[in-house]
Amino acid sequence: MKKHLKHPIFTIISEEADLLGQESFVIGGFVRDILLKRNSPDIDVVTLGSGIELAKKVAKRISPKLPVSIFKTFGTAMLKYEGLEVEFVGARKESYQEDSRKPSVESGTLEDDQKRRDFTINALAICLNSDRFGELIDPFDGVADLKRKIIRTPLDPGITFSDDPLRMMRAIRFSTQLNFIIESSTIEAICANKERIKIVSKERIMDEMNKIILSDNPSKGFKLLDKCGLLDIIFPELAAMKGRQEIGGIGHKDNFLHTLEVLDRIVPNTDNLWLRWSALLHDIAKPRTKRFIPKLGWTFHAHNFVGAKMIPGIFRRMKLPLNEKMKYVQKMVSLHMRPIVLSEEEVTDSAVRRLLFEAGDDIDDLMTLCEADITSKNSEKEKRYLKNFQLVREKLKDLEERDHIRNFQPPVSGEEIMEVFGLSPSREVGIIKAAIKDAILDGEIHNNYEEAYSFMLKKAKELGLEPIGNQSE
Ligand code: ATP
Ligand code: MG
Repeated sequence: MKKHLKHPIFTIISEEADLLGQESFVIGGFVRDILLKRNSPDIDVVTLGSGIELAKKVAKRISPKLPVSIFKTFGTAMLKYEGLEVEFVGARKESYQEDSRKPSVESGTLEDDQKRRDFTINALAICLNSDRFGELIDPFDGVADLKRKIIRTPLDPGITFSDDPLRMMRAIRFSTQLNFIIESSTIEAICANKERIKIVSKERIMDEMNKIILSDNPSKGFKLLDKCGLLDIIFPELAAMKGRQEIGGIGHKDNFLHTLEVLDRIVPNTDNLWLRWSALLHDIAKPRTKRFIPKLGWTFHAHNFVGAKMIPGIFRRMKLPLNEKMKYVQKMVSLHMRPIVLSEEEVTDSAVRRLLFEAGDDIDDLMTLCEADITSKNSEKEKRYLKNFQLVREKLKDLEERDHIRNFQPPVSGEEIMEVFGLSPSREVGIIKAAIKDAILDGEIHNNYEEAYSFMLKKAKELGLEPIGNQSE
């Protein structure tokens, strides 16, 4: 393992650990990621003795002024060096109470410390002291599990998950990110302990869920969450999308599976977490809006608007941001069917302008979402849709170049309308403003001041209004 510890930080830690006479190790994710050939910017160091003392000595060696963040209550210390975050902690033993995932802690041996780790692949340690520099310590066969691609707890899985139920989310997250299998008794223990997830903070749960969403194959994670019964607890709206229903031989598709397919399909085209969330939520109101109408079949009327309305409640409960990111997801969900409808009909300039006007700068993201949403068992149909979509894209580009609708600002403002006709804020001002906007979007006039101004005069006249300059003549 020596060749993986070439970075000068390891030599410094090694020398300082020797001077303090403390056995010290790199442990956990960093070691796992060396063996998986993944990059990992944070290094965890565990030492038999004070982690804070070791951190201070290491920092002083790097530079007398290098700051060390010390967390006395946890007995940990952290420093940053050349883009690496290095955390130091004394080896410890943990014991848990029923109602909290925060253990009481006492100092322990390296083996105690490895036992408190969540999975065998996360319990690997490499010695840093000079006499054993680079020696791998693997008491639970973590290396074999890495080779076999298995997630497994070092101790009894039932106790491991009951002690700290966040580990259930981590198991599923690692399985998704690394494409590993969760060993059967480990999976059974997650099913048995699912209710314990309720003692974990929403923020922690969402951290893991976001990592699942940002992985290369998020559907795997959501299927596992469902299989273990966690999905019903942490994301009931998504769980409600499961299953098909049939009446008189007419069925609808399983909206849960369809959603996961859309999410997987958007992965190669975006790393934007919130666009991926939009894919996950685009049909979230289908269970609520589902109706069977004889002769027509299954309908999900206005599920896009109802879905957009459900989002603040979901985001609030899940402690996701309630800011412009949420608004963006709402916008994507409410508009998600527009480009598809467009590509089904004859694509008129007016319809494309209106879409551009409503989506603004998010138009490209909306198109990406819609393209991912075109899933059909019938590949001829899928091909036709995608071809029509190409047409919509071309038209969007063409119209944008001509009309600059994307960040539409009305060329004549409400203030100006009031000034010209001597009006106070009133219904008439609104009517004239909306008429100008519609005339531009419908292509009756171009998007410029002169044409908008004369259109305003014409429209006002219809309403019986005259510019105040004219009246005084
Ligand atoms: P990533 O950095 O990709 O999230 P990681 O495994 O490095 O993965 P960290 O949260 O950085 O995860 O934790 C570092 C190490 O601390 C883990 O590898 C594991 O050994 C241990 N660890 C973290 N969280 C837990 C937990 N809830 N229970 C037990 N051990 C944990
Ligand atoms: Mg880490």
